[in-house]
Amino acid sequence: GTARHDAVAWGFAAQASRRGAEIHQRTEVQGFEVETGQVRAVVTNRGRIACGSVLIAAGGMNYDVAMMAGVELPIRCYPLQAMVTQPLKPWLHTLVSSVSLHTYLVQSSRGEIVIGGGSDPYQLYSTRSTLDMKEHLAEGAVHLFPFLQSVRLLRQWAGITDMTPDYSPIMGASPLANLWLDCGWGTWGFKATAVAGKRMAETIARGRVPDLLKPFALERFEKFRLLNEMGATAASH
Ligand SMILES: Cc1cc2nc3c(=O)[nH]c(=O)nc-3n(C[C@H](O)[C@H](O)[C@H](O)COP(=O)(O)OP(=O)(O)OC[C@H]3O[C@@H](n4cnc5c(N)ncnc54)[C@H](O)[C@@H]3O)c2cc1C
Repeated sequence: GTARHDAVAWGFAAQASRRGAEIHQRTEVQGFEVETGQVRAVVTNRGRIACGSVLIAAGGMNYDVAMMAGVELPIRCYPLQAMVTQPLKPWLHTLVSSVSLHTYLVQSSRGEIVIGGGSDPYQLYSTRSTLDMKEHLAEGAVHLFPFLQSVRLLRQWAGITDMTPDYSPIMGASPLANLWLDCGWGTWGFKATAVAGKRMAETIARGRVPDLLKPFALERFEKFRLLNEMGATAASH
């Protein structure tokens, strides 16, 4: 299945807001006040927020934000690019992904063909798009559907993905008592948003990690209990 990610994010935000959550846009976390193994306050560009519990869920900036609290995560950041063509009449009613070509295609509700593939092969904090990736994805797409060679590209973009050594997320406790982690979703976190949000809310409300999340603990990297999900996206990252 496919879903419009921005509509899903705004749907969650609207409902959370209606139920009393405060959402502060354009508010950057710049540090944490840590005392006796706990976070006392979050420091932002718009002031200090005293806190009972804190959850870090900062996507491509997770490593940096956690470091502000003195917590080093086993995360490396890589750009992941995608691009869309001009809109076409509906013809592709499923997602097509080729593991050997490292290319996937899906048609959006606006008719554009969304084309993506693997991550960039180097660590970088940048959302620039590259000619290399454009050529690689265009080659894969035309190989699968030769008629696409005459279709124009509309735009191309990149996001920063937070990759863990086993390609699985880190969910649960951190070395600080009231600091919780929902990090390392890398290239496939959108599809898990609903269940991850629900279980992390449960974790914070009860102050303990539910059984479902226990395998995703940060300690698994020290204990060598990795959860290999390298194939989760059916494109090699
Ligand atoms: C091109 C591309 C294609 C993808 N395709 C898919 C797909 O098909 N399926 C899928 O499941 N996943 C896909 N993903 C991966 C998916 O987008 C991520 O795994 C997911 O968005 C991670 O969710 P998150 O909530 O952890 O982080 P994000 O959605 O990145 O949210 C983190 C938020 O934290 C904010 N933030 C960062 N630093 C700070 C700070 N210092 N202070 C305050 N706020 C901060 C950011 O602004 C952002 O709003 C794709 C990613 C890319 C780039």
